[in-house]
Amino acid sequence: MSDAPHFRKAAPGFRWQGVNVLEYKPEGSAPFRNITRQLLFGSTDLACELRYFEIAPGGHSTLECHEHEHAVMILNGSGACLVGRELRSVSAHDLVAIPAHAWHQFRASEGGPLGFLCMVNVDRDRPRLPDASDLESLRSNPVIAAFIRT
Ligand code: MN
Repeated sequence: MSDAPHFRKAAPGFRWQGVNVLEYKPEGSAPFRNITRQLLFGSTDLACELRYFEIAPGGHSTLECHEHEHAVMILNGSGACLVGRELRSVSAHDLVAIPAHAWHQFRASEGGPLGFLCMVNVDRDRPRLPDASDLESLRSNPVIAAFIRT
């Protein structure tokens, strides 16, 4: 069950009443750059959370993989996203499905931020970071090698 109020007003700049702007992850726990997290919905009955992430220009999320899935809708800005071995440009209202065990990383454009909604299970496994052999495998594709940030 969720104890969130029924109604919360949006505020300018992708902020919401009563929603705190949080660190993406604890500092030093994983490589990432210039990204914030807001928990919009988190219901144990629904068994999922909806979060809003915002990556500042030039920033990136962690390159990681895990058992749990992500369902993502780009809300504003533009950037690029790696899912498995597929690298795509993304912009507002695009949908990105990240399946179990797929390596994934988001990057904002150099010229602007990338904001996206991400739905995820409440109960989920911890992300795994790439080891040397994972990186070697990912970097065997030159396009992926040029994209990833670790
Ligand atoms: Mn993830």
